[in-house]
Amino acid sequence: MIANLVTATRSSGAPLTADSKHLLDVDSLSPEQIQTLGSRAIEFRQLRASQPFKSDSLRGGSIYTLFFENSTRTRVSFEHAGKALGADVINIAASTSSVNKGESLLNTVLTLDAMGIDALIVRHPHSGAPHFIARHVNAVVINAGDGAHGHPTQALLDVLTLQDHLGNLKGAKLALIGDILHSRVARSDIIAFRKMGVEIAIAGPPTLLPEGWTPGPNSLGIPGTEVTVHETVEDAVRDADAIMCLRLQLERQTSGLLPDVNEYSRVWGINAERLALASPGAPVMHPGPMNEGLEVSTDIAHGDLSLVENQVENGLVMRMAVLEHFCAPTREIA
Ligand code: ASP
Repeated sequence: MIANLVTATRSSGAPLTADSKHLLDVDSLSPEQIQTLGSRAIEFRQLRASQPFKSDSLRGGSIYTLFFENSTRTRVSFEHAGKALGADVINIAASTSSVNKGESLLNTVLTLDAMGIDALIVRHPHSGAPHFIARHVNAVVINAGDGAHGHPTQALLDVLTLQDHLGNLKGAKLALIGDILHSRVARSDIIAFRKMGVEIAIAGPPTLLPEGWTPGPNSLGIPGTEVTVHETVEDAVRDADAIMCLRLQLERQTSGLLPDVNEYSRVWGINAERLALASPGAPVMHPGPMNEGLEVSTDIAHGDLSLVENQVENGLVMRMAVLEHFCAPTREIA
């Protein structure tokens, strides 16, 4: 367990308060806290750039990642982040655990918690699974994606990436394109970007929009999550300061919602012509994994205006900031 943690000095940012022990979604974070985590992530980025970075701020701590769904970026960056901060990190893939012998989610997490771990990073196909786990374990629970519900660290890194690029986010217009209904990234991004004062323009197949959403103003039903739905992708991206493409969540879609993926690319895909409608220099983001040629054309995905790799780098340093904050809450944060 983490004890007598070494204090790493923070040169900027408002103090974080441990309002919530867990990070289950971004709605528990204030704009100031999002900003503070972003400032800390930038410090980590600078430290990593100037020297091989290793801190011992989580020395003696143990972090388990428990993934019931596939992942490359999120799982690896959490592991890398935990190790960079000096913690022991153990990865558990549900597919190779006793879950395969029929062990329940509750008994699985109670077993892990009994090892005396500090944090459990959880990804699960069912919305609310991390919230359920958080009610039963002593460890800090960090949601690494639950069903179509939330992906808080993705939203934090997306905010950081766009802020890096645009400077000020207040009043900026972000076009969010694609499968809004099944995307936990869409939901967490809407909450986080709206908190930071970003206007959000939505476009996607009507069958892949939340129930009841029609062209015009809509919201997630949470105060402060107002968005504008457009009938066409052209209308949504026109004069946008940035475009976020979303992956088609084919694994979460019931049949018939999307008759033809090629038709999707023709009608909703981001390509050079559509990008030209956005503000000059507007960047394109994608949380990954990309279905290249479907949600975004290859030239744009790897072009000068793509921030996809910046998102990956920021994913690592943001997860360092998150782990440092949530796994060492007793530590003095200057
Ligand atoms: N990697 C992100 C997630 O786990 C985005 C995606 O899979 O579409 O939600």
